[in-house]
Amino acid sequence: MTKKILMVIIDGVPDRPVNGVTPLSSAHTPNMDRIAEAGINGIMDTIAPGIRPGSDTGHLALLGYDPYEYYSGRGPIEAAGAGIEIQPGDVAFRINFGTVDGEGSIFDKTVKDRRAGRISDTDELVNAINENVHLDVDFIFRRGSGHRGALVFRGEGLSDKITDTDPKEIGKKVKKCKPLSEEGRLTAEIINSFMEQTHEVLDKHPYNLEREKKGLLKGNAILLRGAGVVPHIPPFEEKFGMKLAVISGTTLIKGIGKFLKGDVITPEGATGGKDTDINAKVDAAIKALKTHDFVLLHFKAPDEFGHDGDFEGKKKYIEKLDSFLERILNLNFSDNLLILTADHSTPVTAQEHTADPVPVAVVYKDVRVDSVNNFSEFEAYRGGLCRIRGIDLLNISLDLIDRAKKFGA
Ligand code: ZN
Ligand code: ZN
Repeated sequence: MTKKILMVIIDGVPDRPVNGVTPLSSAHTPNMDRIAEAGINGIMDTIAPGIRPGSDTGHLALLGYDPYEYYSGRGPIEAAGAGIEIQPGDVAFRINFGTVDGEGSIFDKTVKDRRAGRISDTDELVNAINENVHLDVDFIFRRGSGHRGALVFRGEGLSDKITDTDPKEIGKKVKKCKPLSEEGRLTAEIINSFMEQTHEVLDKHPYNLEREKKGLLKGNAILLRGAGVVPHIPPFEEKFGMKLAVISGTTLIKGIGKFLKGDVITPEGATGGKDTDINAKVDAAIKALKTHDFVLLHFKAPDEFGHDGDFEGKKKYIEKLDSFLERILNLNFSDNLLILTADHSTPVTAQEHTADPVPVAVVYKDVRVDSVNNFSEFEAYRGGLCRIRGIDLLNISLDLIDRAKKFGA
């Protein structure tokens, strides 16, 4: 029987110590500790020592893709996560519905709100844009949650060598898209036309006029940022010979799964937030091991507690998460290799991602079990994996389950 890999990623779970302890080290986590005890442990620089990973670049590395080679901005990944079938050569953006006011063209107007008063039901506006805006290239425009959305331009000669139109500050004028080099000239022209046409459609749209009457802000501008050209990226199955499943409720991580042509599974109740249904996700992961060779199970909430600077909340959530991991320990580790790790640290003191290395534990029948018996930032150093890079983790795992190819004779 072919051996399977389950990689559990607890987003941003590691911390820097506060009075000598972290949320992870001080939480009561019998199941994570049993995983550490049963396996080989180490610490890991997801990208490289001292490099602060994004969740997107971190996940790419953990999946065996060098982010320096394959990462091309957040726009394409968000667009894939929003369900757009992106293709090599597409230019993708993250967008916000914003509110602008003033006289003249959109580029003379001032941004009053970058979230259009947290507009949430944008379906009608998105449809109006898709029907009424006409460009020299095709575009695909999808709403996201709240004021967010994804936008993809498709055609010959497009480039991401251009500037954002989102000024990222209230009270500033909408920015004209400018080429950063000659190859971006055509794309900048197309985007400026898109900006003008969408403003015209949105500003007089009945839905917005209705909002105005109610004293709400109009969603009358689309603000673009995070341009990226979709790269040629080999599908996971092609690169590693394993069928990939990604279980996540987070658009960005779902986007990574789609990017690598894996199956993205979002069970009912998986929200990508603190209220996610942990049990449903664990269930989905165990089920996916029957149909896929590599299953990535992602939990987002600890990262959010880190960004919020909430030590106690993070600790409590880790304990809650741990209580659902028991069933994973019941897997047969002759046929399944289990990895427990994180994509980066999000210390409550920094409230941002940091480059502090993350603990990693690997359980499999043939691993050289070490003396680490506690899953934490402090204990992992003593383990047999020592200090590794994220990009090496998949190779190490493939070797353990005898799916690695020999280098040399
Ligand atoms: Zn992350
Ligand atoms: Zn984060």
